[in-house]
Amino acid sequence: MKVAKFGGSSVSNASQIKKVLNIVNEDADRKIVIVSAPGKRFKEDVKTTDLLIRLYEKVMNNLNYTNKKQEIIDRFKDIVEELDLKHDILHTIDETLEHHIKTLKNEPEHLLDALQSCGENFNAQLIAEYNNNQGIPTRYISPKEAGIKVTDLPGNAMILESSYDEIYKLREYKEKLIIPGFFGVSESNYIVAFPRGGSDITGAIVARGVRASQYENFTDVSGIFKANPNIIQDPEMVEEITYREMRELSYAGFGVFHDEALQPLHKDRIPVVIKNTNRPQDRGTYIVHDREINTSNIISGISCDKGFTSINIKKYLMNRQVGFTNKVLSVLVENDISFDHMPSGIDNISIILRSDQIKGKERKVLNEIRKRCDVDELSIEDDLAILMIVGEGMSQVVGTANKITQSLANANINLKMINQGSSEISMMFGISMHDADKAVRTTYQYCFPR
Ligand code: ASP
Repeated sequence: MKVAKFGGSSVSNASQIKKVLNIVNEDADRKIVIVSAPGKRFKEDVKTTDLLIRLYEKVMNNLNYTNKKQEIIDRFKDIVEELDLKHDILHTIDETLEHHIKTLKNEPEHLLDALQSCGENFNAQLIAEYNNNQGIPTRYISPKEAGIKVTDLPGNAMILESSYDEIYKLREYKEKLIIPGFFGVSESNYIVAFPRGGSDITGAIVARGVRASQYENFTDVSGIFKANPNIIQDPEMVEEITYREMRELSYAGFGVFHDEALQPLHKDRIPVVIKNTNRPQDRGTYIVHDREINTSNIISGISCDKGFTSINIKKYLMNRQVGFTNKVLSVLVENDISFDHMPSGIDNISIILRSDQIKGKERKVLNEIRKRCDVDELSIEDDLAILMIVGEGMSQVVGTANKITQSLANANINLKMINQGSSEISMMFGISMHDADKAVRTTYQYCFPR
């Protein structure tokens, strides 16, 4: 049994939905389908989820939201008319939006999630109805019926382990099942959304729950590129990549597959394939537990993400002081800040974090570190980018770091920090944000010579 997930652009209008159902219906193993909300139909279009967020903003600012609500209903109306479906559902959409607004206005975070869920929820119902009309037995299943129980953290839901036994029961249905992505239901019966892009997460959870033989993630590209195609012209496609490599690349900006979706799959080693709804014949990229390493696939990909800040601390004889780092980190904990990397020397330490974590709290955090840790020098640097060279093959060959640092030096890029964990899956370089694109171009040429 396969679980197939289709992203927003794959289900953005009637003709895309027809393409999706052709793909679903041509393979009897594609039993369970997870769908996103209607996404962009063209470059300047607005995703339904974003329209729903705008509706929420209007409501919370006590503004007239009638037009916004109508815009959302109209998105579905186009689909209903082109697929020749019953109009009643448009009335239900209207009623549901009004119901959420009325009952949850005093609980803004839950209201936001309830409104956002409507995008996937109604799209799934329309898609199921259309497939049934085509004579293929198909059933819409809500996340609640599917057993997707989540923590009550609005916009940041996490699956409860107890869900998996419930989800397994989906195997009993004979029909094709269409399930909306992106949200689950909490124990107190609230609709709670995963982070943005979270339909990937639903797909992964369901794939693990039903012990699928494969999780197919359909999107609008034919797989994962080895580097950002906006920077490298026609980059190569990755054929096979491990869960660990994918996690590192998604962390640093590869948006094709949500990094949180890897966790449930990784546990049961369910292979994932990223495929293109518009070119289903393309092979796609496989995300697997282990891959064969050869001389041509040592590195899987290069990514570079901007918007990092570094707190740099110097303290003479730091290495001799017990608990120094602990004191520094306690300041971060108290300010609810998470950090990503911590390269260190004997008398210095840098803490690298995403700039939005510390925004507005910089002065307070520095003062507290200064007070508590008796540092010699303390500075903060933003406008940093993190370049990640990712490849499981690096642990087996000598000389990759040499190649990469040489290419960066040739491009006259100053390396502010270097970090490589003992697993040797990735090498991280802290560079200036201005050098980010140049760094990807130059290292790409060295790692993947044409
Ligand atoms: N519709 C949601 C979003 O735009 C979730 C998804 O499509 O994965 O983020």
